Amino acid sequence: MTGAGGVILPGATLGVLGSGQLGRMFAIAARRLGYRVHTYSPDRDTPTGQVADVETCGAYDDIEAVRRFARGVSVVTFEFENVPAATAQVAREETLVRPDGSVLHTTQNRLREKRFLQGAGFPVTPFRPVESLVDLEQAVRELGCPAILKTAGWGYDGKGQVRLNTPAEAAGAWAKLGGEPAVLEALVDFSAELSVVGARGAGGECVTFPVFENEHARHILDVTLCPARIPAAVQEQARQLTCGILEQLQVVGVLCVEFFLERSGRLVVNELAPRPHNSGHLTIDACLSCQFEQQVRAVCGLPLAGTELLRPAVMVNLLGDVWERGEPDWAAALSDPWVKLHLYGKLEPRVGRKMGHLTALGENVEQALQRGQRAKDRLQRSE
Ligand code: AMP
Repeated sequence: MTGAGGVILPGATLGVLGSGQLGRMFAIAARRLGYRVHTYSPDRDTPTGQVADVETCGAYDDIEAVRRFARGVSVVTFEFENVPAATAQVAREETLVRPDGSVLHTTQNRLREKRFLQGAGFPVTPFRPVESLVDLEQAVRELGCPAILKTAGWGYDGKGQVRLNTPAEAAGAWAKLGGEPAVLEALVDFSAELSVVGARGAGGECVTFPVFENEHARHILDVTLCPARIPAAVQEQARQLTCGILEQLQVVGVLCVEFFLERSGRLVVNELAPRPHNSGHLTIDACLSCQFEQQVRAVCGLPLAGTELLRPAVMVNLLGDVWERGEPDWAAALSDPWVKLHLYGKLEPRVGRKMGHLTALGENVEQALQRGQRAKDRLQRSE
């Protein structure tokens, strides 16, 4: 099922490592295009597995099981980037891996990622590597306070992060992260948090979606708005930086760049995700193509799709917290025809766990925001 120029054609089987909501939406997009999807993760009855053709349950470091999985698919991609380097390597021995394992290696460690960005001339938050309390005390002297200490590996949604308001908090913060290698970052005084999802095809062509404006609550993405309420020139710059990063990393697939827009007007990169991103979910309902279709097209070597925003939109995350007063009132949320509901099939709602999202469309982003927030409010039944 490979066509001219190594294109992986509809009818072929795509493999996705990881089995969460990103894999689920990838699988839905792939199936719409006529592909089959296999997923691999340590779990069963997963968000991805529920919509995939085959769900394989195995550990990420079970090299022989990963090898068998990779042998059965035309290309392996990721929805979860924190897999061991050896896993990507063994998959590479059996089939195409997109993006390449080297992209994962760079982006799964904050220090490696920042050094790569800095070395390639991209703007990053001032940072210092920290391997001991002595390093941390020195870094605090150099960067000042407030600052944020983040573990170098395996962090997401604010996990593995401690804020230092004064130098005296260094020892406590170091102990809290358990003495793991870390990065100290200066606290950025930002006017907005932004993200850009880009896709790069097998021939090196690059497209980006419009810039997303993100609001976080308790370090977890809460709301994404598009178009972002920032000057057009800054949007253009963010999109260009994103294409530059995809090019520099030689990504074949999708990558998201998270930015801080400093009050001075300067953009700095916060972090990279070598896959579709939570902030890009509104592309499903609001853009000419969605980030997951781009992922399918890019990893299969097909032409990339248009990314235009068709209507202003807002995405509202639904965390397990929404279940606090029992099963949410889905019908009430959907009473507004401009609101779309996406649920991920997760069996157990837990506080802070991403269970689904709402997308609201409007004439302008303010109207979309109001619709989205009202719909979320209606979810929680008032007794
Ligand atoms: P991260 O996991 O690095 O994306 O951090 C999660 C969230 O914490 C970010 O989206 C910001 O809201 C906040 N944050 C992280 N690092 C910084 C920083 N250096 N300055 C200001 N806010 C930050």
